[in-house]
Amino acid sequence: MAHTADSLAAGIGCITFDLDDTLWACAPVIEQAERLLHGWLVRRCPGFARRYDLDAFVGARGRQWQANPQWHHDMTALRKDFLRQLLAECGCDDALAGPAFEVFVEARNAVCLHRGAETTLQRLGRRFRLGVVTNGNADVHRIGIGHLFDFVVTTAEVGRPKPDAMVYRAVVERAALPAERILHVGDDPVRDVQGAAAVGMKTAWVNAQDRVWTHPEVRPDLELHAVDELPALLGVEGET
Ligand SMILES: [Mg+2]
Repeated sequence: MAHTADSLAAGIGCITFDLDDTLWACAPVIEQAERLLHGWLVRRCPGFARRYDLDAFVGARGRQWQANPQWHHDMTALRKDFLRQLLAECGCDDALAGPAFEVFVEARNAVCLHRGAETTLQRLGRRFRLGVVTNGNADVHRIGIGHLFDFVVTTAEVGRPKPDAMVYRAVVERAALPAERILHVGDDPVRDVQGAAAVGMKTAWVNAQDRVWTHPEVRPDLELHAVDELPALLGVEGET
């Protein structure tokens, strides 16, 4: 690591967080959202029910995602487009796409925060400005933790996905601090660590699975298993 945790913490004024697989496990919440959306569509659209079981539905969505990299910064637009096309293909009213998306997004935001994550954000928020940087359509306000953050940067508003430098330049602008005084925390070696480091931000890699670091061109400044290790690493544990 390039820094001791103490020397790193001394210069930090803002901490930004990835959401999926950093503050909660992503796969279970997406699986549940897909299941609820599928059931909702089956009840309202006989043509859909005949053509798509859950596996076929999830598979079709995966293929649409892979076929449209130009929209990976905007999961909401991508999914709404998928739903409109799917409904039309099945002979269903495409006006159902709006309420169907609402079914999905409500379930997609019913996340289960990692143990200690909320307390960690509260504690860190007393010393640092806190921000969110996300590629997905999770909404911290809808989840009920929006009040813990000073700002949110979504790739949908920037128009590029992580790890594009435009995303992290937008973060630096919103943080209103030099890049080297911002610590970005995330699970993805490329989208989080590489992207943030490329604009000069400090980085913390959330490595819950004890993976091996395989990107020799850049190293995270900190490595942790879960975000609840951050207060101790940054010397704020025990503050009231
Ligand atoms: Mg993530």
